[in-house]
Amino acid sequence: MKFINTKKIFLVLIISSLILNVSCFQFLSKTLNEPVKPQEIVIIHWNDFHAANLPYKPTYNNPNEIFVGGYANLAGYIDSLRGVYPGALVLNAGDDFQGSPVSSITKGMSQILILNQIKPTAFTIGNHEFDYGTDNLRKCIQKANFDILSANIFDVNQQKIFTDPYKIVQYGNAKVAIIGLVLDDLKSSVLPENVKGLDILDSYKQVSKYVDEVKGKSDLIIVLSHQGFFADSVLATRVPELDLIIGGHSHTWLREPVQVNNVLICQVGASGERLGLLKTKVDVQQDTILSFQYEFIRTELGKVKPNPDVGKVVDSLDAIIADKMNEIIGELKVDWIRNGRGESNIGNWICDVTREEFGTDIAYQNSGGIRKNLLSGPIKLRDIWEISPFDNTIVIAKISGKQLINLLQYRLDNTRDFLQFSGLRIKFSQSKNKIIDVTVNQKPIKEDQFYTIATNNYVIGHSARFWGIENDEMELKTTGVIGRDVLVKAIRKEKVISDETDGRYENIDK
Ligand SMILES: [Zn+2]
Repeated sequence: MKFINTKKIFLVLIISSLILNVSCFQFLSKTLNEPVKPQEIVIIHWNDFHAANLPYKPTYNNPNEIFVGGYANLAGYIDSLRGVYPGALVLNAGDDFQGSPVSSITKGMSQILILNQIKPTAFTIGNHEFDYGTDNLRKCIQKANFDILSANIFDVNQQKIFTDPYKIVQYGNAKVAIIGLVLDDLKSSVLPENVKGLDILDSYKQVSKYVDEVKGKSDLIIVLSHQGFFADSVLATRVPELDLIIGGHSHTWLREPVQVNNVLICQVGASGERLGLLKTKVDVQQDTILSFQYEFIRTELGKVKPNPDVGKVVDSLDAIIADKMNEIIGELKVDWIRNGRGESNIGNWICDVTREEFGTDIAYQNSGGIRKNLLSGPIKLRDIWEISPFDNTIVIAKISGKQLINLLQYRLDNTRDFLQFSGLRIKFSQSKNKIIDVTVNQKPIKEDQFYTIATNNYVIGHSARFWGIENDEMELKTTGVIGRDVLVKAIRKEKVISDETDGRYENIDK
């Protein structure tokens, strides 16, 4: 999930004001006319797992850090909680796909096979579930033996909601409605071709519609949302009939539920480092939460018995991946050698194929994001994962010629973070700190013309540092495409790669 900077600041301001103004532990009290035993309803939840199927250390460089997460281990925690709270609702708020090789190679099916063992009560579709296209997601949903819900994804061809919008679960003597939801601007956070044939309906209207449908039939209404904390807060202010929103997408770690308009909002970070555990007492006559307790559980390895069935699936998927990663996808005729201070053949190639893929004028790649050299010979899929291990996605920036000229001078003034590039030829004098000659696609830069740049979201996230341009000073378009996928696609197409450096960045002092 990505935000541009200004948006982020705006969100942080709003979110912190919400948190400050809202008392999280306020108990909802209702005078009861008749003593009816409240129903305890327990909810276990997580979100944005991003295929982190193996336990990992959340921070590097700390030898004392313990492993957390991994699906067998996380499922072990769920098992032990289910032991204590039989019938607990187990809710996954989406974005289980994308983040490790196994998800990319199996197109998310790995996550379905694992979740088939965990059997969550419900799963809501996140934007990354669309990373391998609509048809693929359909196949995944067919394979799933658990309920996948989303109230606002509309299948245009079928003229109906893409998957079940909600379900109602019996819990003791209470009925719980769970409504799935995806972010309204899904289409701007995934590739258009990956959501072909789908419309995203207004989340507020859809939730209101289904709330009307379920409120007579249920005692508790939960929205299982993949739209981010800010949008969840807005939804809570608009639909007071909701009791609870279990959220995802913004990777927000709420240490306690945030109460907005009497609706509790929970979200528990990302990557399975923690599980959220919400214990509510529900008045089944008034259909309200009387009280709640919340805790999060850090999924430290070694404290519970990992779920053996999930472990088997994770291990067998890993074995398949080991094979796949050894696939030879092309041949390298020259050694690819990185250069953090100037032009390099690997940097040129990465930028050339990225620029070509997105049809932009220019492409930029941070040198530090190219993680290894590669000697001539066969190129294995694994090599590309090692060269580009991050799941950075490509963003298209549009700037004026005037901004571009300033950017190039800024680059010359700030050589520490050398950026590899394509589309430009630059002659400069290091001693005079001056650009002597520059062309874009063999033409001089026109100040009043606009230019497009393909780069990754890391560079965009640090555009002030890399380019001297703030995010709100340019037009940005996210593509959702992982940079590494562009490289793999290009190698499969080109087959043999022999590009050398071509002097696109020339210091005339030498
Ligand atoms: Zn998301």
